[in-house]
Amino acid sequence: MKCPYCGSENLVWKDGEVVCTSCGSVIDRIYEHNMFFEVKPAKPTPKYKIIEEEIPISENAVYYNGSTVSEDSLLALKLIESNEKFLLIYDTIASLPMFQTKTIKTKLAVGLYLYNKEMFNKYRMYLQVSEKYIKKLLNRIKKKEREKIQKLLRSRVC
Ligand SMILES: [Zn+2]
Repeated sequence: MKCPYCGSENLVWKDGEVVCTSCGSVIDRIYEHNMFFEVKPAKPTPKYKIIEEEIPISENAVYYNGSTVSEDSLLALKLIESNEKFLLIYDTIASLPMFQTKTIKTKLAVGLYLYNKEMFNKYRMYLQVSEKYIKKLLNRIKKKEREKIQKLLRSRVC
């Protein structure tokens, strides 16, 4: 920055102003600079937005045991790893085509709900799953089908 009046580079901040020490001219005021720094960063260009949409889970994804899982399902994974019963419940639901697109968390919650509602209620808070959501999901499945899954769960999980 140079003094526009005398061309000197000897400028100092003084009482909120930029003053040229060579000619004494007031060149700038601090508040103008503050305003400059407070300017919000420009919005991402549309091109950048598209890239973000292409990898929707990148923000909540975590690296777990060599694979990327959504952060949301990490608690479910920990339960599955710590207890064989949870693993069997999860495995049974994961093997059913109708739940294939669901998250690990939802699969485990559905399994718990069908296997033992008491267990579901016990772990519902930990998994952060709403009973309403699971009920809604299961309501889309015929009663006969639900009973079949329950039988399957009870035969596999002892
Ligand atoms: Zn000057």
